Amino acid sequence: MKIETIAIHEGNKTDSSDRAVIQPITLSTTFERGLDGSYPGGHVYTRASNPNRSSLENVVARLEGGADAAAFSSGNAAGSAVFQSLEPGCHVIAPEDMYHGLRNLLKQVYAGILEFDFVDMSDIAGVRSLIKSNTRLIWIETPSNPLLKISDIREICKIAQAHDILVCCDNTFATPVFQRPLDLGANIVMHSSTKYMGGHSDVLGGVLITKEVDPFWQKVRDVQSLSGAVPSPFDCYMTVRGIKTLPYRMRGHAENAKKIAAFLNTHQAVEAVFYPGLTDHKMHEVAAAQMSDFGGMMSFTIKGTGAQALEVAGNLQVFTQATSLGGVESLVEHRASVEGPGTKTPENLLRISVGLENVDDLIDDLNQALSGL
Ligand code: PLP
Repeated sequence: MKIETIAIHEGNKTDSSDRAVIQPITLSTTFERGLDGSYPGGHVYTRASNPNRSSLENVVARLEGGADAAAFSSGNAAGSAVFQSLEPGCHVIAPEDMYHGLRNLLKQVYAGILEFDFVDMSDIAGVRSLIKSNTRLIWIETPSNPLLKISDIREICKIAQAHDILVCCDNTFATPVFQRPLDLGANIVMHSSTKYMGGHSDVLGGVLITKEVDPFWQKVRDVQSLSGAVPSPFDCYMTVRGIKTLPYRMRGHAENAKKIAAFLNTHQAVEAVFYPGLTDHKMHEVAAAQMSDFGGMMSFTIKGTGAQALEVAGNLQVFTQATSLGGVESLVEHRASVEGPGTKTPENLLRISVGLENVDDLIDDLNQALSGL
């Protein structure tokens, strides 16, 4: 089946007894045993599994071409399950511009449990030079947040495989509509489903998808059910509902983003635009070789100060100034002030999540907000 069909049907397991077209939300936390003590419904207790969660896990596994998936209560909880599944003392190589919440998770919660190094993931030689005998995981995020850097998934996976190292790829920005890391050699894919999968900025979640059901994945599953950072049945329902339109939404986001990137790229008040779809993006060719389109996220620096960048964000009328991304509405964010002290994000940078409004309205809005510079 093609991706549009998978997105609509693979997360919708209906019960033939009442002929509902849409899978209902199963709120029950517990499931009845049969006379022989078995569980004929296939579920025991909702922390371990639930019909809505199983449907969500099924559809995301199919979208990414994986063997299995596990859903969590947030993207960070999904990332944490990967780190928790490593043996203490393992070494992790992660991108220097990793999503700051996950970077802080490693630095603040896993310090003393795991060893880690942060590197520019677009520098393959730099990645190779950090491999040690206890390196067990390379974390990729491509395109990255917020600088839209591109890592070469195939090349990193080749190096990792030669050293028996797992690769987990945060595919939140690209989504399986535009990039399928498991096909390029990754072992695990991670998403903040809060973003494009949910698609409407109204449900938090995270998913992991595995290429193979191996002992590491069994550990991830144990962490999921024993730590219990699982999404509620309602959250799973909402995410499945969002996923049904994911392929069409992603095309709309990318189409609008391309036009906005072209507009910003020639604007006199803009210093630089970071969008992998632009042919002058440093890693455009790698992006084009591993992505079928370039998504709806971009950043740009203005010719001005951090305070002026904040002013531009504040002057926008159609874009809402807020964190997060991937919803139907356009958002703008001054990342440096969100990421706080120690961030490498330039002060004059604004990140935009291009929504599905009419692109002419979005361009007019950017034009009027930049005109004050
Ligand atoms: N990965 C990326 C690329 C993100 O942008 C985010 C959140 O912004 C996360 C992971 C974390 O996801 P969540 O906020 O759902 O925990």
